[in-house]
Amino acid sequence: MPCPISDDEIQKAKDRKHRKARMDQRTRERLPVLPVLISTTDRRRRAAADLLRAAQGTEPGALVPSTDGSLRRAVVPKAAGHLTWVEETNSGRRRNLSYEEEEAFWAFAAIEVLRLTGIRNEELLELTHHSVTEYRLPSTGEVVPLLQIAPSKTDTERLLLVSPELADVLSTIICRLRAPNREIPLVASYDVREKVWNPPMPLLFQRDIGTEHRAFTPTAIRKLLINALAATGLTNADGDLLTFSPHDFRRIFVTDAIMNGLPPHIAQVICGHGSIDTTMGYKAVYPAETIEAHRAFIARRRAARPSEEYRTPTDEEWDAFLAHFEKRKVSIGTCARAFGTPCIHEHACVRCSLLRPDPAQRARLVDIRDNLTARIAEAEREGWRGEVEGLRVSLAGAEEKLAQLNRRPSLGVVDLGMPAANLVGGHLASEHHPPKGSS
Ligand code: SF4
Repeated sequence: MPCPISDDEIQKAKDRKHRKARMDQRTRERLPVLPVLISTTDRRRRAAADLLRAAQGTEPGALVPSTDGSLRRAVVPKAAGHLTWVEETNSGRRRNLSYEEEEAFWAFAAIEVLRLTGIRNEELLELTHHSVTEYRLPSTGEVVPLLQIAPSKTDTERLLLVSPELADVLSTIICRLRAPNREIPLVASYDVREKVWNPPMPLLFQRDIGTEHRAFTPTAIRKLLINALAATGLTNADGDLLTFSPHDFRRIFVTDAIMNGLPPHIAQVICGHGSIDTTMGYKAVYPAETIEAHRAFIARRRAARPSEEYRTPTDEEWDAFLAHFEKRKVSIGTCARAFGTPCIHEHACVRCSLLRPDPAQRARLVDIRDNLTARIAEAEREGWRGEVEGLRVSLAGAEEKLAQLNRRPSLGVVDLGMPAANLVGGHLASEHHPPKGSS
């Protein structure tokens, strides 16, 4: 038996709708600025790599070239050998350029992989060198690269097609991680959801910390995104710094894919959703999309009508249009027939359904009804059977028009009174004056 309480009556349903509206607004705010984020992140990692190279080629204590004398290679005899330190010449502040370059690179890598695949944060952190695989198309024999996504939230594995852009990013990550023996270091990662340590794997998102490699954590990815966004200077509608969570890229991926023609059921498979409703929940509805669809509908409807209807009317046509409304006034009301159509009831208005009776003509209608009743009685007395039938139809019409007038509510003017402002004890108080005569 269905539950008598509808979804709309449950607070949870309202919360779900409000959350969807908030998420849609988040996606609408972030999708247009995604190109800025991508280009800024790419420029930032290239600039950090150039600066690190320049500092590494500088003797300790000397000014770093191409920095206009603002940076000097720091003398840090106790620092770890793989770290490059510089200091700002005007403030003396020390900067770890190795760390800055690493942070800029991994922010770029995380943003690119998240936006090009739409995968979840935990799926990103479980990508390994073995995830990149290939498939030979049976029809053409062409080999296409695929990315294998390990089972996570829905516990099902899936394969994504690797676009040329994504292939570039993955190969940059693999080249960076490869040790001199051309192998990717094996790293054990901690699964925060399952609360278990995974066996060592050649993870793609790992970094060199001191003397060992460690897997990135979800928190570390969030921090990378926060710092990358801060570098762009992008702000939201309130003027606060814009933030992206890893899941924002997933929503943007779905919205962008569906808006560019990818069928929702394919987007569902790509995202690994159990239900298409989840996929459509990720897709933000744009007012522009609605407007475009409505305009296309109007254009289609116009195309179905003769084009000569869409022009400025001539003076004669305009006069005929106005004359039509003048001719609609009849003795007991207004005729509501369409413009350009003739009277099809031979002006027998009392019987006609197109007549809108005028309340001011009620007395005339009563006279007509009484007259018809008298004529029916006379016709029956005289034996004019044919006349009786026609008169009865007219009588039924007159009574119907009177009933219409009785059903119509009287539209009298209601006096709501005027609110007035009074000063009470030095404070402004509002007072409502009811209409005179009311209690
Ligand atoms: S009969 Fe009907 S259509 Fe004809 S003028 Fe009267 S109300 Fe209009």
